[in-house]
Amino acid sequence: MTALPLQWTEAAQAIERADRILLVTHFHPDGDAIGSLLGLANALWARGKQVDAAVDGGVPDFLEYVPGADRVLPNLTEGSWDVMVSLDSSDEERTGECGVYGRAHSTMVINLDHHRTNTGFGSLYLVNVNAVSATEVVYDWLMHMGDPITTDVAIPLLTGLVTDTIGFRVSSVTAETLRIAQKLIEAGAQLNLIMARTLNSQKYAIVELWKRVLPTVQLEQGVISAELRLEHLADMGLTEPPSDLGLVSWLVSVDEAGVSVVFKEMTENRVEISLRSKVAYDVASVAFQLGGGGHRQASGATVQGTLAEVRARVMPMLIALVNGGGA
Ligand code: 5GP
Ligand code: MN
Repeated sequence: MTALPLQWTEAAQAIERADRILLVTHFHPDGDAIGSLLGLANALWARGKQVDAAVDGGVPDFLEYVPGADRVLPNLTEGSWDVMVSLDSSDEERTGECGVYGRAHSTMVINLDHHRTNTGFGSLYLVNVNAVSATEVVYDWLMHMGDPITTDVAIPLLTGLVTDTIGFRVSSVTAETLRIAQKLIEAGAQLNLIMARTLNSQKYAIVELWKRVLPTVQLEQGVISAELRLEHLADMGLTEPPSDLGLVSWLVSVDEAGVSVVFKEMTENRVEISLRSKVAYDVASVAFQLGGGGHRQASGATVQGTLAEVRARVMPMLIALVNGGGA
């Protein structure tokens, strides 16, 4: 994980020269994924560029307020591009089917991201591991290129800042983060509205799921865990867990816990894990060892094995992390 260069100028020239541009982001997109995708798309559309923006399954309902959401393609079946920009994805697999199609039909790939666990794929890099969100990297790049920050650009960019910092609460937030937020608010993005749509909004079905999952919560040596089992989903007529369960971020607020983990049973033999930590602990290192990635205080991975097997493998790593044994 050596530092990648920040190729602002080379990447700007590639965009300038390109006739057709494809923007992709990670599947199960969150606010920063859609925010970085549409922040850049709206700026390039305003220039008159021919741009396609795509993510598997399209924009989730709660992010439909972001300007341009109705123009995002839910899959790719035709087209070819001079440049593909991959946004907020630490590895190629995370860009899903759209990424597979895009890579096969694009001349070059710009890797724009802020994950320390970025694998360094692509031909040009805009990977700033000190940025709080991918939208911060997009903002810096637009400043570099001299694009105006219109309201349609500011709303998606502030959305990513708000969601990846959980409302400016994580340790990576600096005075510079707030200066950028100020510029975006001045450009017409409404902070309270974005907070209300993202952090303070959920479906009642999520509460019903929490009712089933909370009895599985355990606190062991500073690690608080919960299990979302297939039976909980079946009970509610769901085929897959919602991407915005929200439980893991709430569990880490427990004073006695240094780390929280939610095990999501996807199939009999595959488990997704979500990790959060207090600032003293780096859960990205654990996620990376498990083949996933993320940030110091919020990371995740998909692990093969039964729920019991994955739990037996992951809990000792987390307990060691919290209790000073190294991860
Ligand atoms: P969440 O717990 O919200 O699903 O994920 C938290 C963060 O962990 C995400 O923003 C993303 O950076 C990272 N993450 C989660 N799952 C994976 C994964 O399977 N692979 C990688 N590379 N990163 C992940
Ligand atoms: Mn992000």
